[in-house]
Amino acid sequence: MSLLTVENLSVINSSSGRSISILKNISFSLNSGETLAVIGETGSGKSMLCRSIIGLLPPCFSCSGNICYTSSDNTKTSIISAEESDLLNIRGKEIGVVFQEAVASLNPVIRCGKQITDVLYVKSKIDKNKAAKQARKLLETVGLSEPERIFHAYPHQLSGGMAQRVALALAIAGEPQLLIADEPSSSLDSISKKYYLNLLNRLKQENNLTLILVTHDVDEALSFADNILVLYAGNISEYGKTGEIQKAPAHPYTKALLNIAHALKENDLPTPIPGEISSLTNPPSGCRFHPRCPKAQDICRLKEPSSIDISDYHSVRCFFPADTM
Ligand code: SF4
Repeated sequence: MSLLTVENLSVINSSSGRSISILKNISFSLNSGETLAVIGETGSGKSMLCRSIIGLLPPCFSCSGNICYTSSDNTKTSIISAEESDLLNIRGKEIGVVFQEAVASLNPVIRCGKQITDVLYVKSKIDKNKAAKQARKLLETVGLSEPERIFHAYPHQLSGGMAQRVALALAIAGEPQLLIADEPSSSLDSISKKYYLNLLNRLKQENNLTLILVTHDVDEALSFADNILVLYAGNISEYGKTGEIQKAPAHPYTKALLNIAHALKENDLPTPIPGEISSLTNPPSGCRFHPRCPKAQDICRLKEPSSIDISDYHSVRCFFPADTM
C-alpha cells in the first residue's frame, strides 16, 4: 500500500525577490514498510524535500504539485493544501522526523525526559505518570545505558551520539508510521554512526516503520534502502530499486557517486566529480549536470532531459543513459 505519493513537487524560494527553483518536478512513491534513501551532494535539495513532506518549509517558500499521505486510519491528506491543524496531527503522530543537528532540534531549556513525556502525553493521550514511565523506556529502547540520568539531563549535557538517540526517541514517541531521518548520523564518528544505523534498522523492523533516509553516504543507502532517489541541484537524476541502481546505474552522476563509494570502501583514492554542484540561484541551461558530465553533448546544454523509464521500477533523467550509450 502506498503510504506517501509525491507527484510533480516543485518548491520555489522567493525570499530574495526572485523566484529560485529549489526542487523541480519531483515524483516518487513509498509503500508501507519500505526504506527510501535520498542521496546527493550538499545543496541538492534533500532537506527541502523532507521539509516539504511534513509541510514545514521556511517562510517565502512555496510548493506546487501534490504530496499525498495516507494516515493509519486510511485517511488521505494532501500535505500541500492541508490546514496547519491537520498537519499538527500528522507531524509526530504519523510522521516522525530526526534532523541532522540533534541538539539544535531539541529544546535547550527543557530536560530531555520532559520533552519526550510531553510528546507522549499529547500524542498518545496517556496520563503524565504513565507518559514519564514510557519516556524512560524509550530512552532504553534507543540504547541509552543511563536512561534515568538522560531523562533529567538538558540537551547541552549530552554527547552528540546521545543527543541523536534522544532525538530519535522523541521522533518515535508518537508511534509514527513514517520516519524521516535527515542525515542523522553525519556528525557522528564511524563507530557511533554504525551503531546508530543498526539501531535505526532494528527500530524500523520492530515498529514496522516506513523510512526515508536522507544521506550523502552512498554505501549507507545501498545497505539500508529498498529504493534510491538521486537528487542533483533540485532535480531527480535517477530513481529506482536499490539492486537495479547498484548493478546498472544509468545516470552519469549516480555512476560517479557509486564509483566514489566503491573506492572509499576499498580504501582507494576516489576520482572526484569535477567542478561543484550547480548553483540553484543561477543554474546552467539544459541538463543541470552538464558542466560536470563527461558524456555531455550539445543537446544537454540546450534542453532539459525528461524522465525515461528504464524498467517498471527504474527511471533516469538523461539524454544518454548508460545502457543506451
Ligand atoms: S543529459 Fe547529458 S549532461 Fe545530463 S547527465 Fe545525461 S549525458 Fe550528462
